[in-house]
Amino acid sequence: MRFDIVTIFPEFFTSIFAHGVMRRAIANGLVSVDCHDLRNFTHDRHRTVDDRPFGGGEGMVLKPEPLTEAIESLGVTPKSNRDTGRESVILLSAQGASFTQPVASRLATLDRVVLICGRYEGVDERVNILHCDQELSIGDYVLSGGELAAAVVIDATMRLIPGVLGNEASSAYESFGPAQSDLTAQFSPQGGAPPLSTHGSGGLLDYPHYTRPADFRGLAIPDVLAGGNHDQIRRWRRERALEKTLRNRPDLLEKADLSAEDHRFLRSIQSQESEK
Ligand code: SAM
Repeated sequence: MRFDIVTIFPEFFTSIFAHGVMRRAIANGLVSVDCHDLRNFTHDRHRTVDDRPFGGGEGMVLKPEPLTEAIESLGVTPKSNRDTGRESVILLSAQGASFTQPVASRLATLDRVVLICGRYEGVDERVNILHCDQELSIGDYVLSGGELAAAVVIDATMRLIPGVLGNEASSAYESFGPAQSDLTAQFSPQGGAPPLSTHGSGGLLDYPHYTRPADFRGLAIPDVLAGGNHDQIRRWRRERALEKTLRNRPDLLEKADLSAEDHRFLRSIQSQESEK
């Protein structure tokens, strides 16, 4: 899969792609990331990329000409003929649709993604109209530029590309992961094998994790995790995931894939809470 980033700060990305999973994915040839300096597509002495907004108001706006030249130099199919099941040009924007795990999963199936990083007050809207297939926001806050957002989109997408993580079950069993029914049999634990996770997070947050030492500053790990009973471990993890989701992101429960047992458990902790 190929990512292209159009930015006025290409150096911003130097260290981001030089570590961990992203570095390995690039080194192994599973992913390529090319950064393009928007100022290389200007033709004046000052390499001007921005100008004042029509209608007045605060700040500056990224001009359409350099962005258009930059995007057209990348050889992506023009928007009118583009197969968005293969390639996508994305404008990072606080006004965009939310970038979520399902959006990352869909992007991970494409051959090519071009990410346009705004700065100042944003990007001339004609760039969006002429070239972009979608606007994506990484959250309900305003960043100074699209670079951090582009890095977030690439990181979250890249780790869903087959082969990028050593163990493909890792991404399937994380927070926001698919329901167990959507997971292939290869991820299901075989008889007696250690539990992979919570039987698929099914849209819940992940459960808490523990490693050695078993006792740290007076806090012992939950007994069940050392007991070796994998059914009990699976149930414990499921309940902790339900608890954490109820506490931190109750909105996710509305769409989560919940069993009758899950509902009973949630009702029991809600009634305990209301008795306090
Ligand atoms: N005037 C814009 C607004 O109110 O929506 C904010 C512009 S912001 C200071 C500059 C650039 O940062 C944007 O053009 C966009 O590329 C990027 N940006 C800011 N917040 C973002 C977010 N939540 N998600 C993605 N990109 C964002």
